[in-house]
Amino acid sequence: MNPKEKPTTAPPLDGAAQTPTTGVTEKIEKVERCPLCGSRRLSLQFVAHDTLHGMPGEWGVVACSDCRLMWTSPRPTRETVASFYPEEYQPHGGHFAPASPGDRAPLLRRLAGRVLDPKEVVIPDPHRPRRVLEVGCGSGRVLAELADKGWDAHGLEPSAAAVATLRAHRDLPVRVGTIEETTYPSGSFDLIVASMVLEHLHDPIADVVKLRNWLCPGGHLTGSVPNCASWEFRFFGAEWFALQLPTHLFHFTPSTLTLLLEKAGFTHIRIHHQRNVSNLMIHFGRFLEKHRLPSAKIFLDYPTIGPRALRLVVRPAASVLAWSRQAGRISFVAKRSP
Ligand SMILES: [Zn+2]
Repeated sequence: MNPKEKPTTAPPLDGAAQTPTTGVTEKIEKVERCPLCGSRRLSLQFVAHDTLHGMPGEWGVVACSDCRLMWTSPRPTRETVASFYPEEYQPHGGHFAPASPGDRAPLLRRLAGRVLDPKEVVIPDPHRPRRVLEVGCGSGRVLAELADKGWDAHGLEPSAAAVATLRAHRDLPVRVGTIEETTYPSGSFDLIVASMVLEHLHDPIADVVKLRNWLCPGGHLTGSVPNCASWEFRFFGAEWFALQLPTHLFHFTPSTLTLLLEKAGFTHIRIHHQRNVSNLMIHFGRFLEKHRLPSAKIFLDYPTIGPRALRLVVRPAASVLAWSRQAGRISFVAKRSP
């Protein structure tokens, strides 16, 4: 946590989260007990806004004094959280859709992305392509790649619009729904992929237990989350791009993520620090924008129109963060316990 952020407004909570002024009080709930260890010894870390989409409200980030898990409180309820995702929410967007067969340019872009960010999805090795479920598959970019590599690829995605985009491009078995409201028979999958999903869940332990039960014995869960034990979080503090309040309900570190996976019945847990170039570019762009510096737009627009050479400059910095285990995004692989 950024030391500059510590003198925030509120004293330790002693078991009760304060309610920042949100202006949307009918849509929120407080989480006053640690979902991971049950402790009521909580402290408010800081209050922040939605810096990603500029949606209204102020949101608290609370930490458990015992296991150090951090979460958003108050937060949107299960019933209202969808209203905090704007229509242009990137993973639901059409531009993530896979290419139609024969279209070479998107394939090259996908391959380039893999080279630059090779640990976006870590497939445990050895693992022959068999039956995989991607939860939170969005409009299907990763799911289509897995299918193209020979996996019997199934998807689950709460956004009907994203699934409609996927179905317009590919005929893959995808359900619309959340983990909580969906049922698959026990032992259905050899691998479950959950990229940037766990931080969005209202009850991650219950949902990850469900994912465990959907795996066959010896099956693996793999995925990624933002990493709060990172240089990026310490540097940007409450304005860190990857906080994404209020749609990110939990804010993990390698140790709290490991605790969650262990508690949900996983073993052989491995954490990888991603060499994430795009995140770093956007973080810098937002920082520069705040200080009204002219180069901000180059960073913010980079993923679509920015100069390609800029990536080559930022890439070594992202590599240093990954090698020093300070990356802002981590991947994990965990094996279903017997
Ligand atoms: Zn705790």
